[in-house]
Amino acid sequence: MQSVLTASGRVSSLEVVIPNSGWIEAICGPMFSGKTEEMIRRLRRATIARKRVQVFKPSIDTRFSDQEIVSHGDRRMPSETVKSACEILPSTHWQTQVIGIDEANFFGPNLVSVATQLADAGKQVIVAGLDTDFLGRPFQPMPDLLALAESITKTLAICMCCGAPAKHTQRLTDSGDLIVIGAGEAYEARCRNCFRPDTPRQESLDFTVETASSPEGLET
Ligand code: ADP
Ligand code: MG
Ligand code: ZN
Repeated sequence: MQSVLTASGRVSSLEVVIPNSGWIEAICGPMFSGKTEEMIRRLRRATIARKRVQVFKPSIDTRFSDQEIVSHGDRRMPSETVKSACEILPSTHWQTQVIGIDEANFFGPNLVSVATQLADAGKQVIVAGLDTDFLGRPFQPMPDLLALAESITKTLAICMCCGAPAKHTQRLTDSGDLIVIGAGEAYEARCRNCFRPDTPRQESLDFTVETASSPEGLET
């Protein structure tokens, strides 16, 4: 039986509800909210439990490493890079029990059926990704994955304007493209009140880089 312990050490309801079965755990929230750190924490615990673990990330995400998932706080874990969601199934070893998929938002809608097939095949699938885009709109495939998942964790960051819990990803550059790869130089976390989807602060980018490059004291 695959057991899941919560942070408090209690066995979660997953163990009771679906013994000997696969499932989907979704971790969603804005950038900088700790999705990758939470995924690494869960995958490390699975490794300690001697489960066979595989981690996938999209090749489009070249920000920190192409062989590891890397958090903004520089926590790392080896991963396999795939070009699209379709490559995940053929890359999954039949003995793998736990599968981590980071940056779900870069994989597009095909990830939904891939995660479902893996869970149906008995795998524990942990998927992390943005649930809203730079305009604050639901960002596929995470909304569908949330609907299909057995477990949902929503992480919040710290608003870089006021310090409140932040659920939005504020784009700081002047682009209308849905996907623009970047980290602290291009995005920051904002709360509902401070989020300004229509006014990227292109003119104050230098100031923004200074602000976003020293986030370590803001750990939640
Ligand atoms: P995500 O995967 O959600 O983008 P990460 O797990 O990569 O988040 O990074 C979380 C880490 O980012 C935090 O532990 C903290 O060190 C750092 N960080 C930087 N900016 C912020 C912020 N505005 N709010 C919270 N944490 C932040
Ligand atoms: Mg991440
Ligand atoms: Zn705010």
